[in-house]
Amino acid sequence: MEFDYDLFVIGGGSGGVRAARLTAAGGQKVAMAEEFRMGGTCVIRGCVPKKLMVFASQYAAAAKEAKAYGWDIRMGSFDWPSFQTRLKDELTRLEGIYTKNAGNAGVEIFHQRATLKDPHTVQLADGTEVTAKHILVAVGGRPFKPDTVPGIEHAITSNEIFDIPELPKRILIVGGGYIASEFACIFNGLGAETTQYYRGAQILRGFDDEARGHIAELIADQGVDLHVGTDVERIEKRDDGLWVKATDGREAIFDVVLYATGRKPNTESLGLEEAGVETGRNGEIIVDDFSQTNIPSIYAVGDVTDRIQLTPVAIREAVAFHETVFKGNPTKPDHVAVPSAIFTQPEYGSVGMTEEQARDERPVEVYSAAFRPMQNSFIEKNERVMFKLIVCAETRKVLGCHIIAPHAGEMIQLAGVAVKMGATKEDFDATVAVHPTMAEEIVLMREPIRVHA
Ligand code: FAD
Repeated sequence: MEFDYDLFVIGGGSGGVRAARLTAAGGQKVAMAEEFRMGGTCVIRGCVPKKLMVFASQYAAAAKEAKAYGWDIRMGSFDWPSFQTRLKDELTRLEGIYTKNAGNAGVEIFHQRATLKDPHTVQLADGTEVTAKHILVAVGGRPFKPDTVPGIEHAITSNEIFDIPELPKRILIVGGGYIASEFACIFNGLGAETTQYYRGAQILRGFDDEARGHIAELIADQGVDLHVGTDVERIEKRDDGLWVKATDGREAIFDVVLYATGRKPNTESLGLEEAGVETGRNGEIIVDDFSQTNIPSIYAVGDVTDRIQLTPVAIREAVAFHETVFKGNPTKPDHVAVPSAIFTQPEYGSVGMTEEQARDERPVEVYSAAFRPMQNSFIEKNERVMFKLIVCAETRKVLGCHIIAPHAGEMIQLAGVAVKMGATKEDFDATVAVHPTMAEEIVLMREPIRVHA
């Protein structure tokens, strides 16, 4: 059978663009549809704008600390519109690069929505139908708000936060995941009165318990009014702002209510049923180890498969898809020991297992140290950093590494190589310290603070 394309990719985000570019560069005929903006969540309303806001939010504290170090600094105020203009320009620049690179590789881009019609046919929003030998679904996910909360229409999500016209004086962030916690630190740093409600007992569910407690303490010490075990009961729009009643009876007025309570795969009305593609309970596309769905011509990568929702993982899955389908080299994306960072202030970087996961499986030794680093003790700033290693008592391998410190994201990328290679505690110990640094602690911890037999 003749097809219009060798590959049709739905979704121009991290995963989709990488797969399309590689495949087109390899000489195949490739098309891609993107309904919003090229670059996807990461570039347009995720990692990139968020990290730029993290940078913006750190200067007030830095200026305050600079004073303690002897600098005569007069603090001005933060100009949200001027930052926002630069931010938008930067995103447009990156979007242009994504579009250009895909085009240069030979990808034909349709700037419109696409849906599946059958295992080899894609329907575009303008009514055009095209066929492809292989279809890759890389439509990502979207934030969702619980429709059970009265007044929820007044709340926004991370999709809208970068476009708010002015910096809120009072913001409520609902949620306890990494996105909610990062935005709490961002707005607190920018000078907004920041409140965070999370219905669970502790923020950052799924991460190491000791690290979760440490981060929660630091967030609260910085000035975020953090309430765990608390949810929103109702929201009302009033003359002086958004009135919010919480489940613990607390009432307060906010200028912005930001919901960051989870994301859903973008699979609604995508034609998956028509094409016969199986989905899971949350709407995610079910794939095998090679990202292939139950329909042999249709593959899916990235957030839409709800495996690990991170940009570099979507990209790795796309590369593995390309190797498998177009290079005759069946490749499984590797989801083991994926390092990641939470850009709270300070950051939390982790790789491998949490203490709780590891001790359920085998005997482990836990090495952990929390202390005030030199830069903070000099100015009597209380913030402590934390370094933690989880070591298998039998093989001596480091199963998990957790770092809470300024630039922990940068540190964990490097520590991640050692953990991924299967380094033992003795390999860490044999490495000479870099002095004076915070990170030297990672090779200096001699005695376990806990042993789980
Ligand atoms: P996406 O990047 O979401 O791309 C999917 C694309 O498909 C979108 O552009 C969408 O418009 C398009 N699309 C959807 N349906 C259709 C259709 N029917 N037709 C045509 N186009 C369609 N990850 C990290 O690694 N580090 C971080 O620091 C980080 N921070 C984040 C912060 C926030 C606020 C958010 C929301 C996410 C963050 N992420 C981070 C996660 C990261 O953005 C995602 O894991 C990544 O973008 C997933 O890539 P993807 O290709 O699966 O999907």
